[in-house]
Amino acid sequence: MVVLNQMRHSGGFWLRLGDVNVLQDPGPGCLVMVHKQRLKPGSLDAIVLSHRHIDHSNDINVMTEAMTYGGFEHRGRLIVPADCLNSDPVVLQYVRPFTEITEIREGMEIELGKIRIGFPLKNMHPVETYGAIYKFGSRRLGYIPDTEYFPGLVEAYRGVDFLIINVVRMTTDRKIRHLNINEAAELINAIRPKKAILTHFGLQVLKAMPEAQAKRISERTGVEVIAAYDGLRVDLEEKESLKKWV
Ligand SMILES: [Zn+2]
Repeated sequence: MVVLNQMRHSGGFWLRLGDVNVLQDPGPGCLVMVHKQRLKPGSLDAIVLSHRHIDHSNDINVMTEAMTYGGFEHRGRLIVPADCLNSDPVVLQYVRPFTEITEIREGMEIELGKIRIGFPLKNMHPVETYGAIYKFGSRRLGYIPDTEYFPGLVEAYRGVDFLIINVVRMTTDRKIRHLNINEAAELINAIRPKKAILTHFGLQVLKAMPEAQAKRISERTGVEVIAAYDGLRVDLEEKESLKKWV
């Protein structure tokens, strides 16, 4: 409902890690928001999909066109779960020749310029879903996208410096297989990043004021926790930054 009514923007997030640019989860409105943020799609080195749900993948085709200058320049990469390409594919056939396409497999790691992207494990969600660990310099940034809680998440992401975590609910609804705020707090406490960013809020979380929830988790865990907002920019180190407009 938050996406469908655009109570928050839904374009995903843009990572600038040294001279490598990656777009993660281009949901509805991504192309528009990228330009509002004065980011250049032609500078992207890769677009990564955690999964095929429309709030994460809606703008994948138009962003692929933008990354490849309308398909005239073969460049960049799409890194996506296999079910984004096979049954009822979200990546259209006609954009596929524009770029290099890699199917994500659990445990794989990809080199992209000076960074590496790892896909430590498959999440528990109704479609094939993978989080990622971005490794740049001596730092690691983990992204835990949509999933229901399971203990394997802690081991897979333990020790990351930065953690982005999708929190949809205040209370669990087993039917929709998403993390609730207490499960997110538990993960942050166990993984213990230097900084955690909560995002992907459902109505329940918006009503409970994400900033207040972030503060509560900070106090409980001793970890710096921030609630994402449209246009949030986080500096990871002098040169690295993350632009966020979900
Ligand atoms: Zn989903």
